[in-house]
Amino acid sequence: MRELIILGSTGSIGTQALEVARNLNIRVTGLAAGSNAELLEKQAREFKPLSVALRDQKQAEKLKIALKDTDIKVFSGKEGVNAVACGRGDIVLCAIVGIAGLESTLAAIEAGKDIALANKETLVTGGDTVKKKIAQKGVRLLPVDSEHSAIFQSLQGAPSGSLNKIILTASGGPFFGMTRERLKSVTVNDALKHPNWSMGKKITIDSATLMNKGLEVIEAVHLFDVRPDDIEVVVHRQSILHSAVELSDGAVIGQLGTPDMKIPIQYALTYPERGVKFESLSLTEIGTLTFEKPDTETFKCLPLCIEAIKKGGLFPAAANGANEEAVSLFLEGKIRFTDIADLVNAGMNSAPHKTDFDIEDIYNADALARQTVRNTLKG
Ligand code: NDP
Ligand code: MG
Repeated sequence: MRELIILGSTGSIGTQALEVARNLNIRVTGLAAGSNAELLEKQAREFKPLSVALRDQKQAEKLKIALKDTDIKVFSGKEGVNAVACGRGDIVLCAIVGIAGLESTLAAIEAGKDIALANKETLVTGGDTVKKKIAQKGVRLLPVDSEHSAIFQSLQGAPSGSLNKIILTASGGPFFGMTRERLKSVTVNDALKHPNWSMGKKITIDSATLMNKGLEVIEAVHLFDVRPDDIEVVVHRQSILHSAVELSDGAVIGQLGTPDMKIPIQYALTYPERGVKFESLSLTEIGTLTFEKPDTETFKCLPLCIEAIKKGGLFPAAANGANEEAVSLFLEGKIRFTDIADLVNAGMNSAPHKTDFDIEDIYNADALARQTVRNTLKG
């Protein structure tokens, strides 16, 4: 069994990945997170990795003291997280949230690790750079996001060049069917109640605005080398069909299952083998699967992301940065739910027009979009 490093181990994906590692007896060699020293200490004591890191310097100091009776190396700061990403191990599960995960993902690829990617913002902001490095290093990029895992699984055995169209399913989130007027008064608590999945706060808000689906369209463009127009977003309230592909003869192949992130996490870690069995799917118990068009008039973040990837360049990075900033402001109670899409629009349009850009340009576009969001609020 291969050795596993988890970046973002204290989060929703990270903790579920550790459950998978526990089930499969996978050796965990590195763990990193943001600031949750208490949970990281617990994880370190159970899994006995070679090294751990916290982005937060103070919390890392606390962790160092807490783990001083062990041989585990404790690193701190961005460099510390990167050091864990590059430590001993074959595969790195990238489950940090936001563009904050881009640097360590690139570091892990540079160090020759296979990547199990949950952090979609990495591909949204740095897609071309990540893919180029993946190709240079000859490592694998395995999707963890449930829809992309479903697409990846549906493509196993499909001849190259036979992918016609991607059918990307969306739950529709907690506000499906609501009018824009009604959305103006929804609260943070309403937005944090996802109908089918339990996830970190940022992605839960993204699911409510449909930004998450927009980010996933961009993620799919990078992962499967398709054009945005080759992706059809379909609202499927039950989250049973996790996504599907249409092949060149019109055959549609999809992956179904109970909504449990451990299934795609496990597949990324055991690929091409299948791991242990999770809950069986009873189609007769579910009875009905429904499919509808998304309401792109009310949920503007989805069409904004499609616009961003069609424009290309730094537009996706700017849209993502604006969204990260707007979601933080919404969670702090400083803006309304409906302001998020307007701020994503403003931030996205702050993107410098560049076709040839490097990683610094990406971070600059991110910073500029965040600044634009804050300025728009003040103005
Ligand atoms: P959470 O908020 O639950 O977890 C985020 C993790 O990242 C935590 O471990 C957090 O540490 C860590 N972290 C945050 N900032 C930093 C930083 N600057 N440096 C190092 N570590 C950091 O998020 P989720 O697990 O829900 O999501 C993680 C990623 O996976 C996101 O990109 C999301 O879009 C994607 N994803 C998630 C799904 C899900 O079901 N949750 C499904 C599909 C994709 P700490 O706890 O210490 O703050
Ligand atoms: Mg998803």
